[in-house]
Amino acid sequence: MNTALNAARRAEELAALAAGEVVDVLVVGGGVTGTGIALDAAARGLSVALLEAHDLAFGTSRWSSKLVHGGLRYLAKGDVGLAHESAVERGILMTSTAPHLSRALPQLIPLQSTVSRGTAAFMAAGLRAGDALRRAARTPSALLPPPRRVSAPEALALAPGLRSSDLRGGLLSFDGQLTDDARLVVALARTAAGFGAKILTRAPVTALTGTGAEVLDGSRHIEVRARTVINAAGVWAGKLVPSVRLRPSLGTHLVVSADTAGLGGAALTVPLSGSRSRFVLLLPQADGLVYLGLTDEPFDGEIPDVPVAPQSDVDFLLEMASSVLARPLTTADVLGSYAGLRPLLDAPGRSADLSRKHAVLRSPDGVLTIVGGKLTTYRRMAEDAVNAAVTEGNLQAGPSPTRRLPLVGAAPRPVLSTLDAPARLKAKYGTEAPEVAALDPTPLAPNLPITAGEVEWAIRKEGAMNAEDVLHRRTRLGLVPTHLKAAEPTVTTLLTNAASLALRQGESRSPTV
Ligand SMILES: Cc1cc2nc3c(=O)[nH]c(=O)nc-3n(C[C@H](O)[C@H](O)[C@H](O)COP(=O)(O)OP(=O)(O)OC[C@H]3O[C@@H](n4cnc5c(N)ncnc54)[C@H](O)[C@@H]3O)c2cc1C
Repeated sequence: MNTALNAARRAEELAALAAGEVVDVLVVGGGVTGTGIALDAAARGLSVALLEAHDLAFGTSRWSSKLVHGGLRYLAKGDVGLAHESAVERGILMTSTAPHLSRALPQLIPLQSTVSRGTAAFMAAGLRAGDALRRAARTPSALLPPPRRVSAPEALALAPGLRSSDLRGGLLSFDGQLTDDARLVVALARTAAGFGAKILTRAPVTALTGTGAEVLDGSRHIEVRARTVINAAGVWAGKLVPSVRLRPSLGTHLVVSADTAGLGGAALTVPLSGSRSRFVLLLPQADGLVYLGLTDEPFDGEIPDVPVAPQSDVDFLLEMASSVLARPLTTADVLGSYAGLRPLLDAPGRSADLSRKHAVLRSPDGVLTIVGGKLTTYRRMAEDAVNAAVTEGNLQAGPSPTRRLPLVGAAPRPVLSTLDAPARLKAKYGTEAPEVAALDPTPLAPNLPITAGEVEWAIRKEGAMNAEDVLHRRTRLGLVPTHLKAAEPTVTTLLTNAASLALRQGESRSPTV
C-alpha cells in the first residue's frame, strides 16, 4: 500500500489520465468531503481520480472549529435524525477511523449571574440528552464521560481565567476535538491513495460533464474521462454545476493565547444572551493557543478563495468571551484570525437555522453534486455519494467498508500510548510518529515546536508542493502571522533543498518554493 503523496507521483498519475485512462469515479474537490469520497470509492475497489484546484484542505475544511460534534445542537432544534447521525459518526471517528487525530474535549458552561437558574436547568437537561445520544451511538463513557455539574472551585480549576465574583459553578460535558481539520483531510487523501486513488492537487477543473472534466495543468488543458463524476467543490460547487443553489454562511474564529484567556485543557462554552442553544466557544489547542469562535452570518457575493474575518465578528467574539473572563480580551490580545464559508443548501430562513443535512443532487447530464453536511459526518456523506455513483454508473462495487477502516496513522488508543515518540507528534502522525521523530529534530524557529523533519515528511509523504502548503495546511503556522514570519525562511530553504535533490535524482516534477 503506497500512501505517499508527492510531486513525482502526481506527475505520473496526471500523465496517465491525460493519456486517456478512464476512471470509475472522478471527484472534484480535495476537502474533507472529496477526500472522504475518494477513500470510500477506492476502498470498494473502484478506480478513482480526485482533482483539487489548489491544495488538500484549501477550502472550508481548514477553517472549522475542529470539533467532532455529538449533535447536541441539532437535538436542540428538534432534528433527532441528524443529531443521531452526528453522534454515530463521532463515535466511529474517535474509536475506529482516527483515534490518533482526535481526543475527548472537556467543555465547561460557566454559571454566572447572566445565566438564570431556569436556563441552567434547561442546558443541563440538554447535556443529558446529548449523553443519551452518545449511549445510543455506543460510544464508551470511558472515552466521553457523562456530563455533570461542578462547583465554583472546580470550575476555576478547569478554567482559571473565569470571573469568580459571581461564579456559582459550571456544567461540564465532553465532545470530540480534532488535532487539526486539515490533517484529517491529508490522512483521508493518503489512505485513499493507498487504495490506488489518484489524488491530484494544483488541478483546477474548468468544465464538468457526467462523463468527465476539463482540467488546467499550468497552461495546458487536459480532458479527464470517467464513468461517473462527483462534484464535491464545497461553496464553489455552483460554479461547476449552475443548477446547484447554495446559501453560504460565514464563520469567524480568533486565535488568542491560552495564558491570556486563562484556559487549561478545558473549553469554555459561553451562552449567547437571549439564546439557549447558541454559544461562543473558547477552544484550547495542543500548542498553547485558543480558537475563539464562532459566528454564523449570511454571505452574499463572489466566493473568495480565502475569506477574511470581518471586524464586526472580531468585536462580537471579544465581547462575548470577555463577558465570562476576569480579564477582558481586547484586539491587542488577538494573535490571528480565520474565517470560513459553510456550503449550506439554499432554503428559506436565517442562515444559523439552515439545516446542516447533506444532500446528493443529480444534474440533467448526470453530474452528482454533494453539498451541506459537516466535517463530523464526512464518512456518511461519502458513503451516500458513492452509493449514488454506483447506481448512476451501474458500477460493480460492494457496500462501503469505511466504518471499520483506520486512516493512515490510526491505531487503538492503548497502542498509540505505547509508541516511542513525543505526544505532540503522536497527535499529528499516530503510528507514523516514531518515523517523523527520527528525522531532523531542529525547530523551524525558536519557540516553535515544529521541526525540519516535519517539513521533510510533508514534502515526501503528504503531498506538500510549496511553502504555502507546508505553512498553511500541513502545519497551521499560518494562523498566527508572527509564527508564519518566523518559520517562512527555514521552510523556504528546506523546500529549495528538496527541489534540488529531486532534480539531481531525475524526478520529472519537484516541489517549488
Ligand atoms: C467556521 C466554520 C466552523 C465549522 N466547524 C465545524 C466543526 O467544528 N465540526 C464540523 O463537523 N464541521 C464544522 N464546519 C463544517 C465543515 O467545516 C464543512 O462542512 C466542511 O469542511 C466542508 O468540506 P467540503 O469538502 O465540502 O468543502 P471544502 O473544504 O471547501 O472543499 C472543497 C474543495 O473544492 C476545491 N475546488 C473548488 N472549485 C474547484 C474546481 N473548479 N476544481 C477543483 N477543485 C475545486 C476547493 O479548492 C476546496 O479545496 C464548520 C464550518 C465553518 C465555516
